[in-house]
Parts: sequence; C-alpha cells; structure tokens
Amino acid sequence: MEQTLAPALRKTVSQLKKAKHFVATAYIVDLQAEAKVLLLKHKKLNTWLPPGGHIDEGELPDDCVIREVQEETGLKIKLLSDAFDVSDNQTETLHTPLIMQLEDIDSEHQHIDIIYLASVVEGEINQNAHREHAGIKWFSELELKQGDLWNNVREDAFVAIDKARELKERGLF
Ligand SMILES: [Zn+2]
Repeated sequence: MEQTLAPALRKTVSQLKKAKHFVATAYIVDLQAEAKVLLLKHKKLNTWLPPGGHIDEGELPDDCVIREVQEETGLKIKLLSDAFDVSDNQTETLHTPLIMQLEDIDSEHQHIDIIYLASVVEGEINQNAHREHAGIKWFSELELKQGDLWNNVREDAFVAIDKARELKERGLF
C-alpha cells in the first residue's frame, strides 16, 4: 500500500539535504489596553518580522531569544508558557515553544525556528539598537490584519495573541 507523507514533509522533501540552523524567535505581546505585538522592520528583506536570531553553540534557545531581543530592541523580556515544571537536580524544564517552523532561507540553508511567546519585563524601545532594522513598532490586531506582512508572520502573531489571552485568563501572563 502506498504511504502518504505528512504535508510538512511532502512540501520540503526535495530540500531535505539543505543545511539547517536552529534559531529562536519571540512574539512579544502587550495585553494592557488592546492586544499588540512587537515587530521589527528588516532592512534587507523590507518586511516586518519578530525579533530573534541564531542560537549560539552551547546556548539554550530560551537564553538566545532573550539575548537577541535585548540586542535588537533594548527590551528585557520574559518567556511565557504553560510548561509543567518537572525540574529536579538533573533536569531543568524549559519553556514550551508556541510554534516550531521550518523556514526556507536561501538555496543553501533552512532555519528550524523555535518560536516563543513573551512579554516585556522592563526597558525602553531603542529604535537604533540594531543596524539591520529600519524600525520597531507595536502592531494592533487591526494593523496585523491590514498591514503589509508576510502571511506566516500575521498568523503567528494571532496565535501568540490567542495564547497570551488564554494564559492571562489562567493567571499565567
Ligand atoms: Zn541561518
């Protein structure tokens, strides 16, 4: 009997030999007045993307995304998830990612993107924190819907807002 590959695998099966980098990304949500998500205008790609970057050798994804956000925006964030804490002296519970994505970057490589939900702990946005970015902006739900964004960014942002609201209801945001 013929087997069917899962959709994600079928889509990328011709690219299985590409190099893969682990990256970590944060959708930073503010639920204070109306829901908002922080995006950065990427100069080279000329589109709005969430902050994040490559995970360094020996670095935890949780630490990577906090470091990248600090470098790119000047903000200190905390990650949010409902991971059940099973830490003991040999095991540490890490944050459960919001989404995991495989992203085609160029003919040479792909990114395995570990995407987290986060909120701001402290700090002011530094518009000039990073030379790869042309701007930093909080997007409302209306702006996410109507803005000129990549579809996956729009969809991920709404997944992040939904999860933030769910966690808030449970006292976890
Ligand atoms: Zn890469």
